[in-house]
Amino acid sequence: MFADLHLHTFFSDGTFSPEEVVAHGKRMGFGALALTDHDTIEGCERMAVACATEGIEFIVGSELTAEFGEHELHILGYFLDPKHSRLLSELAKFQEVRQNRIRDMVERINKLNALGRTDDVFALANCRAPGRPHVARALVKAGFCTSLDEAFERFLKRDRPAWAPKMKMSAEDAITLIHEAGGLAVMAHPGLNRCDEVIPSLVEMGLDGIECYHTKHSSGTAAGYLEMTKRYGLLVTGGSDCHGMSKGKPLIGGIKLPIHYVHKMQKAREKRLAKANSTTT
Ligand code: AMP
Ligand code: FE
Ligand code: FE
Ligand code: ZN
Repeated sequence: MFADLHLHTFFSDGTFSPEEVVAHGKRMGFGALALTDHDTIEGCERMAVACATEGIEFIVGSELTAEFGEHELHILGYFLDPKHSRLLSELAKFQEVRQNRIRDMVERINKLNALGRTDDVFALANCRAPGRPHVARALVKAGFCTSLDEAFERFLKRDRPAWAPKMKMSAEDAITLIHEAGGLAVMAHPGLNRCDEVIPSLVEMGLDGIECYHTKHSSGTAAGYLEMTKRYGLLVTGGSDCHGMSKGKPLIGGIKLPIHYVHKMQKAREKRLAKANSTTT
């Protein structure tokens, strides 16, 4: 039995519905799936229902945008309480900034005469946590770019004319928030961030695990992070980071995390919850 613990839907910048992700997961034979949309848990309710129907274990998750010094980091939260009020209010803040940022980006692009109205981008995004991929899709749809990569290269990358900042939580706040909401905090795709030197500090902040297995990690990269989890006593996680059809073909199925890692996560989560209860009572 295998798991994929890094998946996106159209509730952030993926193209699949939660039901479509689950249908793909079922076809690939997964026993457990986690939804980790950027800065939202909105799709989790539908995904939970679809997983229950298919007999797949479901884990509520989110990929929080965080920072440490000048580094942008993505912190995955797993087993989050979907009704946790501070989690929900912080996610609402992330989403408000994301929506304003899209307006800002479209305004910048319009100065270059290259788009249309913000409404068009929102119609295309149709979610509360929109991101640059939605602007990129609008640029392609309007015929100003021939590919998403071109849209990022010309307009959307940092230091390009339409780039605008998004909300980032300090890594420490993100880890604390995830723990408050009953979850486990995992550093996403460290191989893409190239800032391994921050990992010891994250561990001191309470980081629970590292996403060793990821579509963009080579086997050597994964082995290096596995070694690191042993050194620091961290959990091992993994996932495809599938964004639906946005990268040509769905990535789901490319990473198959043995289910025993999920069982270890469950045990660690129970331990955390028991510890939290013993300090509040
Ligand atoms: P944002 O969260 O709005 O800053 O957007 C970041 C997202 O853009 C990432 O999660 C990727 O899914 C996507 N992305 C980054 N670079 C590219 C690219 N060159 N082509 C397509 N998508 C990209
Ligand atoms: Fe993304
Ligand atoms: Fe990420
Ligand atoms: Zn992701």
